Amino acid sequence: MKIDVLTLFPEFFDNLRNFSVIGRALEKGLFSFNTVNIRDYSKDKHKRVDDYPYGGGPGMVMKPEPIYEALTSIKGKDSFVIYLSPKGKLYDQETAKFLSNKEHIILLCGHYEGIDNRIIENYVDMVLSIGDYVLTGGEIPAMVVIDSVVRLLPGVLSSEESYVDESHYNGLLEYPQYTRPRVFNGFEVPEILLSGNHEKISKWRKYQSLKNTYLNRPDLLEKRELSEEEKRILEEIKMQK
Ligand code: SAM
Repeated sequence: MKIDVLTLFPEFFDNLRNFSVIGRALEKGLFSFNTVNIRDYSKDKHKRVDDYPYGGGPGMVMKPEPIYEALTSIKGKDSFVIYLSPKGKLYDQETAKFLSNKEHIILLCGHYEGIDNRIIENYVDMVLSIGDYVLTGGEIPAMVVIDSVVRLLPGVLSSEESYVDESHYNGLLEYPQYTRPRVFNGFEVPEILLSGNHEKISKWRKYQSLKNTYLNRPDLLEKRELSEEEKRILEEIKMQK
C-alpha cells in the first residue's frame, strides 16, 4: 500500500515515520509513505494558498488550484482520495478495514475554515471525520487514519491475533487486561486469569467484553448480531446490574 498526505504542514508527520508499529512497518517496506506540501503547488508569487470566503463570513478558505495541482501530481488510476473534515462520515474500524484493502490512499488535510467545496465535489472519493469536535487541521485526523489502517496490513503486527481480539474488530469492546505483579498496591489480578484453564479464561473474557460494551457503548450491541450464547450472557449481565 502507498499512502500520500497532502498538507500545508509536512513536518507534522516526521515523528510518525519513526514511531513504533508504523516506523517498523515502514522500515520493513510493508507500506510506503510520502507527504506533499500543498504550498509548493501555489502559482501565487507569495505562495498564498487561502482566500476570503465567497458570501462573507469569518476566516479563510483553502484555494482549489494548489490542491488540484498537488493532487494530480500524485493521483493514479488506483488512488482513493479522502478529505478529512468534521463534516464527513464518522470514521470507524469498518472503514479502516475497507481502506486497508486499497492500493493507494491519498489523505487531504484542510486548514483554516476548510477547502473550496469544488475539490470535495469533484476530486474526493470519501469525506471522513474522526469525531464530533473541531480540530485546527486535518493532520492529526490523517495520522489517526494512517495508524489504524497500517495496523491491519499483512505482516505489520506479529500475528493476526494481535488485532482480532482488540476493541471494535468484532463489534465489541475488549476485555480488561492485566500484567505482573500479581498484587499491586494491594489490588489483585482476577483469580481466573491465573488458573491456567483456557476455556474458563476465554469465557470470562467474553463476559467482560460484553459487559464493557453494554456499559460503555450499548449502541455497538444494537449493530452487532449476537450468538445465542452471547445473548444469554448479556441477559445475565443485565440482571446483575
Ligand atoms: N469550518 C469547518 C467546519 O465547521 O466544518 C472546520 C474547519 S477546521 C478548523 C480545519 C480543518 O481541520 C478541516 O478542514 C479538516 O481538514 C480538519 N478537521 C477538523 N476537525 C476534524 C475532524 N473532527 N475530523 C476530521 N478532520 C477535521
